[in-house]
Amino acid sequence: MNKIEHIGIAVKDIEKSNKIFASLFHKKHYKMEEVLSEGVKTSFFQIGENKIELLEATNPNSPIAKFIDKKGEGVHHIAFSVDDIISEVKRLKDEGFHILNETPKKGADNKLVVFLHPKSTNGVLIELCEDI
Ligand code: ZN
Repeated sequence: MNKIEHIGIAVKDIEKSNKIFASLFHKKHYKMEEVLSEGVKTSFFQIGENKIELLEATNPNSPIAKFIDKKGEGVHHIAFSVDDIISEVKRLKDEGFHILNETPKKGADNKLVVFLHPKSTNGVLIELCEDI
């Protein structure tokens, strides 16, 4: 596993949050992207070598809508970049981690992504991502 690629933050209103984080970081987001399969609209800020991803639900069944219903807005996941997502998933599975999707799926920002269930990682949703 390499560096932290990004930290995902669940927000209710991404336009509003884009403004808040733009004034916090003193720079604008560099892209917005909708991921239909996940029911989310995302925006990305580049901060040094890391990124912050804001996520807004686009429908009530989106994992982000469910997260906000349960816990409110806030840190949703930590994403780590990996060189070879398939072999990393295999390694983590062998270590006993609960993998949410063993087949990597296309995530935002040109990545293949896999999520680990928070129940096997002390309540933290972990995302692995490999550049496409
Ligand atoms: Zn993410």
